[in-house]
Order: sequence, then C-alpha cells, then structure tokens
Amino acid sequence: MRGRVLSVASECVPLVKTGGLADVVGALPGALAGQGWEMRVLMPAYRSLRRLAAGWPVVWEEADLWGGPGRVLAGEVQGLSLMLLDAPHLYDREGGPYAGPLGEHADTAVRFAALSWAGAAIARAGAAGWVPEILHAHDWQAGLAPAYLAYHGAGAAKSVLTVHNIAFQGLAPAHLLGHLRLPSAAFHPDALEYFGKLSALKAGLITADRITTVSPGYAAELMRPAFGMGLEGVIAARAGVVSGILNGVDTSVWDPARETPGFSAKAMAGKAKARAALCDTFGLEVPGPLAIIVSRLTEQKGVDLLPLVTPGFVEKGGGLIVLGSGEPALEAAMQGLAARFPGRVAVRIGYDEALSHQLFAGADAVLVPSRFEPCGLTQMYGLRYGTLPVVSLVGGLADTVIGASPATLAAGVATGVTFQPVDALALGQALDRLVALHAQPKLWSKLRANAMAHPVGWEVSAAAYASLYDGLIR
Ligand code: ADP
Repeated sequence: MRGRVLSVASECVPLVKTGGLADVVGALPGALAGQGWEMRVLMPAYRSLRRLAAGWPVVWEEADLWGGPGRVLAGEVQGLSLMLLDAPHLYDREGGPYAGPLGEHADTAVRFAALSWAGAAIARAGAAGWVPEILHAHDWQAGLAPAYLAYHGAGAAKSVLTVHNIAFQGLAPAHLLGHLRLPSAAFHPDALEYFGKLSALKAGLITADRITTVSPGYAAELMRPAFGMGLEGVIAARAGVVSGILNGVDTSVWDPARETPGFSAKAMAGKAKARAALCDTFGLEVPGPLAIIVSRLTEQKGVDLLPLVTPGFVEKGGGLIVLGSGEPALEAAMQGLAARFPGRVAVRIGYDEALSHQLFAGADAVLVPSRFEPCGLTQMYGLRYGTLPVVSLVGGLADTVIGASPATLAAGVATGVTFQPVDALALGQALDRLVALHAQPKLWSKLRANAMAHPVGWEVSAAAYASLYDGLIR
C-alpha cells in the first residue's frame, strides 16, 4: 500500500447527493484503491444516516463539539469505508444536507466547521489507530480542515483542497472567527479575511499544501476575474501548487451495454429501442435529433437560453426532454416550453436517477450550455452513451468534448458540438449544426462511435491523484 487518505466532504454517493461533488467523493476511494491508496470518507451523520451508523464503533470523539458531543463512527457501505460524524445537535435535522424546510440553517458555518475540525483531528492524530498521511478536503464545507491543521498543528499530515465549484465560498460573519476556533491574527486579506467576512473556502485555499480543481480548463479559468468569483488573486498567488484533474465517471454505474442490450458503437439497435420507448413515455414524435437536459435548473447551467432557442430547434425537427429542478422561474419556463410544443418538448421537474439513465440511453444529444462548468458529468455520460454532447466551451466541457468542425471531422476525432460565447445566438447555431449532422446518418454514426470510444472512466485521473499524494509524502 502506498498510503492512506482521509477524504472530508459534505456529500457522498450512495448516501447523500445534491450534485457532482457526491459522485466524485463516492467514486474516488474505489478508483484510488487500484492505485494502492486507501481512502476513507468522513461526512456528517445527517438524520437519514444515523440509523445506518448506530451499531458502528466509535473511533473518535470530542465532548463539546460546538455545543454537544461529537462522535465519529466507522463502517462500510457498498465497499466504501466511511466515517460518519454523529453530532445530533448539528446534523440530526429535517431536510437535506444544507437546508431544512425553512431554508438554510442559521448555524451553517458551525456545522461544517465541526466536520472540518473532526477531519483535521483525525488527520493529525488518527482514529482508533488509523492514521492518514493525507487529508483531502472537498469544497468550502471542508475548507477549514486544512486551516485547522495549519493553525492547530498538522502532525505529519499533508493537505489537499479540491475546488468543485468556486461559486460556493462558505462565507460567515467576521465575529465568528474566535467561535470557529480560528486565530484572530489570521484575519487579514492575505489569510482568512474575504471582503470583511470569513470564507471557509479561502481559508482552505490559503492553507492547503496542494489545491486541485476538477478540470485543467477550470484550473486556468479560476485565476481570471471572469471565473474566479473574487478568489482569482488568491488562486493565482498559489499557482505553483494548483492543478486540474478531470473527474471520471463510474463506468459500472453508467454502463449502457448492461442497461440496454444491443448497445455498442457498431450495433445501435438498443439505442433505437430506448429512443422509441422514451418517445412513447413522453408522447413525443421527433423527426430530427432528440436532445435532453439533465441538470440543476440554475443560471450557471445556461438553461435560461432554452426558451430562446427551442422554437428554432423544434421548427427544424428537433425535440427536447428536460429533467431537472431548481429556480422556480426556470422550472416555470421549462414547463412553458412543454406546453407550447406538445409532442416535441417534455419536461419532468424533480430529481430522478433512474429516468436520467433512460434519457441518456434513448436520446441523440445532451445539451450542456453552462456559463461556467468546473468539470460537468452529463457530457461525459453523453459520450459514453453515444448521446452527442452539445456544450459551451468552458471549463471541463472544453476539456472533454471535441467539437465537430471541418478539421476535426476530416481528422475523424469529433465527439460532439461546441459553441461560444454562451448566448442564444451561439447555442442556436450549435443546434443548427446538430440538426445538420443528424441528417447525415453515416457521419452521425461516426461521431457517435468516436464519442463512445472516448475514455471517461477514472483510471487516468486516479493515477493523477495518486501521484499528487506521492509527491506530498515522499
Ligand atoms: P453540478 O454538480 O454542478 O450539479 P455535474 O454535471 O457535475 O453538475 O453533476 C450533476 C449530477 O447530478 C450528474 O450526475 C447529473 O446526472 C445529476 N443530476 C442533476 N439533476 C438531476 C435530476 N433532475 N435527476 C437526476 N439526476 C440529476
């Protein structure tokens, strides 16, 4: 074995997921095991997880973890080594990981400071004899973990912070500094202070030994004002320790050949059947390309452009199925499209993992018109399922999709359609190109075969993380 890593995060598949972060945190341990690194995941024992962990042994505890006892319980779920931080006064609440029925909790900063504190304590001194060499913190919720190592002692532990989305920065009022067990001397612009507030993400960016983000493209973008969201200077100042490592897809979970018999780059009868089933389910009849969107419905994802481009797309023969939930205005706009184009556009508001698989299996294309995209997973599912990605040229989207152009078509390497800038004109033109490509069956088959041959698994990225860890401890 090369070493041990404690991964600290607020969500993890298969237990709690609100976005791609959970997919990555859940997939990394398996991917790293193949590289000789043992990774355990520390996350809060939210209400939904308390029963699961009830009989697990206690491997770490603190009598007063911000107002009540905190205990870390260790166990295994589906081959995943988990450490659940049970602190009922912080996590035994109704609702999701971040909010209850009345919205975000008033003590959000403390809830994730406690997670970070437990992570740092275990990294520093171990838990029941298990001592990790590396603490790997994910996003702002674990951002204080490297800071606690830096300000309260790290022992032999080294730290890595991965930024999955810079838009979420973990801001808290400055007066909480002492309460969060952070030194007042560190409250200045070169350390924890962020425009008069405290930022848990910035704390991690300043103190972690290495910073990674989830694609090389996003790593470069983060150093520019257009994408850094105020933290570009902090990241640029640490450019020497910043790297981008693309997320992978769990290819055993996203496995078209297993889900749909007759699914291979050569024989796509299975896809045709899945498409017919989809059209049946949603009452659609689509002569041109059938596109899907599986996404949070937020401005980041560019879905506000759809009402502007869908009329033209439908007129040229296209169809669209949207699966997502998010901002009420965008949900309403999507439903408006379905009402306006019956038989061509269908919308399902909500979160539905099983349906998402059916959509990727049956559709011709997946749209990802994001304004920024740290990595993005759905374009990679699209590649794997021969569902051609139509993506904006930002972040991880630009790193994973090769847009069809005369040059890439001639070279036989195109895997999708790309566009920039992120506006209705460029997206509309991209959809026009999609329609034109779809009308040439031989070319379309070639594109689809290219897409399906593109590697989207974890192998390459796991090796990159392993060598990052190796570099830190040797
Ligand atoms: P982000 O993390 O910014 O939301 P990603 O593309 O990295 O975006 O990951 C989103 C993940 O959530 C993907 O696995 C996607 O399939 C899934 N997802 C998003 N919305 C839905 C939904 N409504 N139903 C099912 N899965 C969804």
